[in-house]
Amino acid sequence: MLALFKNNNNRRTMLCLSAAAILWGGLGLPVPAAAVQAIVQPVESSGNPVNASKESIWSARRGIYDQLSAATGIPWFRFAAIDQYERTIAKKGASDKPVTNRLTGIMIPAPVWSGPLNPDQEDTSPESITFFNGFGRDGSGDGIADPGNDADVLYSMARHLQKYGDSANDFNIGIWEYYHNGRASQRIAQFAKLYEHFGRLDLSGNAFPLPLSNSYSYRSTWGTGRSWGGARIHEGTDLFAPQGMPVRSTCFGLVETKGWNRYGGWRIGIRDIENRYHYYAHLSGYNKSISRGDIVSPGEIIGWVGSSGYGNPGTQGKFPPHLHFGIYRDRGITEWAFDPFPLLKQWENQEYRDLKNKNKKSATNKEKRLQHP
Ligand SMILES: [Zn+2]
Repeated sequence: MLALFKNNNNRRTMLCLSAAAILWGGLGLPVPAAAVQAIVQPVESSGNPVNASKESIWSARRGIYDQLSAATGIPWFRFAAIDQYERTIAKKGASDKPVTNRLTGIMIPAPVWSGPLNPDQEDTSPESITFFNGFGRDGSGDGIADPGNDADVLYSMARHLQKYGDSANDFNIGIWEYYHNGRASQRIAQFAKLYEHFGRLDLSGNAFPLPLSNSYSYRSTWGTGRSWGGARIHEGTDLFAPQGMPVRSTCFGLVETKGWNRYGGWRIGIRDIENRYHYYAHLSGYNKSISRGDIVSPGEIIGWVGSSGYGNPGTQGKFPPHLHFGIYRDRGITEWAFDPFPLLKQWENQEYRDLKNKNKKSATNKEKRLQHP
């Protein structure tokens, strides 16, 4: 099999050894010092990637995607998209899953890994797994196909994808053939597009949906009843604002929905890299340059506050102008709304803090210039 990681003798030491082996092992590709630092550091400081900083984890993950990409020809952002998708649908804190120190989150079920008819469902022999039509391959070069080893899992996924071809469409077919789940295919295609567009794993910045000012107001209204359309609870926060106030993207994301909905009026939905769906309703209009499938950044104007909705297309003025903002989290089979109010407060406060720091900085610079003309 692929001798990528010759130095890796102890496969179960997870992050530290598998990541180190990528760097010092077979391929001999130049590795930036920062990446080495990022991978080695969390192990030295805590022995556990759980306590490592987000930046060092991103950097280590990017390192393993890049190495596997160089070895297999599968672009890094496709590994990243599958990995991120599985991470976002994994149940947090589920007690039936062992806590692992793995760097990547792709979990391949035993019957898929070893082969459905394989009598040994914990088989790690590449030869017998292949004999039983299993998915598992050895990517680390130690002769073992381990479903708990990052390199083995990514390499096995790459071997599966290679069967379909290189284009984005081929990739979508390969993903469909693996998951047989339209929602998974859609998400992974979206994530791959986002990662490819921005060229990095860190897509974590946010913005408040309205430009900071004194002319909007909002409070927590989670779960309160509403009159129109029968017994539904209110899944979101209403931000009351003047008609025509710009509405901005709250995240790095991809425009998933755009158009009329009898409840939401002119509405837009944006998927972020955490698999959250940001929903903006009752708009008076859209930013004409934004279409479905487009990529947006935090703060980018997507439309304007209005009072559309509660009827046939074009219905307006049945309530005071406001932005209805909701967030839904995809759990793989269903989507759950959660209260966006705490996040809105957090984003608003963060923007005020950033603004204050920026003003302070420019004031200090001004002072310096005055002192040293
Ligand atoms: Zn509302």
